[in-house]
Amino acid sequence: MRHIFFAERELSKVPELDPASPLTIAKAGVVGAGTMGSGIAITFAQSGVPVVVVDTNEEAVDKARQTVMGMFMYQVQKGRLTQEEAWQRGQSITFTDDWSELAGADLVVEAVFEDLDVKREVFAKLDGIVKPEGLLASNTSTLDIDAMAAATKRPEKVLGLHFFVPANIMPLLEIVRGRATSAQTLATAFAVGKTLKKKAVLAGNAFGFIGNRMVFDYVREAFALAEEGTAPARVDAVVKAFGFPMGPFAMSDLSGLDIGLHVQKLQGKSGQGRTNVLERLVEQKRLGQKAMAGFFKYDKAVGKGREPIADPVVEQLFAQEARKAGIAPRVVTDREIRERLLYALINRGAYLLEEGIALRPGDIDIVFVYGYGFPPHHGGPMWYADEVGVALVYERIREFEAAFGPQWKPSALLARIAESGATFAASSCFDPSTSSGQAELSMTPGGVVSNA
Ligand code: NAD
Repeated sequence: MRHIFFAERELSKVPELDPASPLTIAKAGVVGAGTMGSGIAITFAQSGVPVVVVDTNEEAVDKARQTVMGMFMYQVQKGRLTQEEAWQRGQSITFTDDWSELAGADLVVEAVFEDLDVKREVFAKLDGIVKPEGLLASNTSTLDIDAMAAATKRPEKVLGLHFFVPANIMPLLEIVRGRATSAQTLATAFAVGKTLKKKAVLAGNAFGFIGNRMVFDYVREAFALAEEGTAPARVDAVVKAFGFPMGPFAMSDLSGLDIGLHVQKLQGKSGQGRTNVLERLVEQKRLGQKAMAGFFKYDKAVGKGREPIADPVVEQLFAQEARKAGIAPRVVTDREIRERLLYALINRGAYLLEEGIALRPGDIDIVFVYGYGFPPHHGGPMWYADEVGVALVYERIREFEAAFGPQWKPSALLARIAESGATFAASSCFDPSTSSGQAELSMTPGGVVSNA
């Protein structure tokens, strides 16, 4: 917990950021009035920043207006807001299908469908409408910020602002730096994070950034365990016993199996799963909690429809598909379940540090504690690696590599720390006041590692 406290204070210490003065964000814009757009609009409104929300779909605009106003009224009922405050917040959000209302915005956050072509079109359109000094951000979960920046004539003012769902509640914000994103744009993003009361973490522009990239590996292992014959409910129970509020299968059900499948396809060959279980479930319309069936089933009478209930049908499906793929069943211990899930996070975290996608181990820990429910008393995945002993983690990862294949290839940074008997915490003493000793973990634009 002390580590998390200090890691939080380090977050905005980024090389070459200090001299840059942030721009003032007096007015914001949001494009896309869906789940994320509505949440982001509420976040700005509750921090006193007026915001314009634009969508091409009139129905989506109406629905967002109702959702947002309904949320403010609910807060009045709960005594969290006065009528007057709710009215003021309501007044500070403008819902419209008229894009010209975005012209005077200092910052516009795009939250349209996760499709690069659609996003590039939106960025090109915004570039022609928003005042030249305005910043353009994308809330994409995975896509390339540079490709969006290239659709504009102001790439230095383009960045990723990755909010987590529900955006008005989740405290984490990943600030994604593109190749051309300027120091001033980043300084402004950190200031926005502060205004919105978020824990803002800098990430390089790579598929899935920090949090999602690591979670993909964690979910890959959860899948692999189920393919080898471990019930999803058991996998989740082990993770919950460690202290997470939910396991990887309940988490996948919550975010939607259709989204999971989409991400798997975007990842191509390296996507999780050696079987077609996910495709089969999506074909059967088992899309997760929203469909009352996914990896688990849900019943309105049990925990208001949010409590995962083990479903033998899914276990059979895993067994069937595993047989087809030639995966032999294995009996695993709870310890192996825990190690495979957590060490997958640690190994990927080490790669992200090595590649300069994450600046410090503590940044990764903040992402997991505030964005994914990693138990704070274990300090986050990288702190946990230190707690276990990096050498032991490394040794186990090598065993997994030998047993399961190249997806477990240990990161060179992990190997180096393990062999020197050091810790992640001690190997990353990044001090912004000195230029020495930070090259190994320093982040250059676009997340390319500098070994200078
Ligand atoms: P959503 O489907 O709920 O909403 C998307 C909205 O964008 C819709 O209202 C749609 O009408 C609108 N839209 C589509 N094309 C448009 C265009 N050209 N111009 C204007 N509006 C357009 O989607 P969502 O879940 O809110 O996700 C939006 C973005 O946020 C995606 O990039 C997604 O990856 C990202 N994201 C989602 C989550 C999540 O868990 N839902 C979390 C973090 C980031």
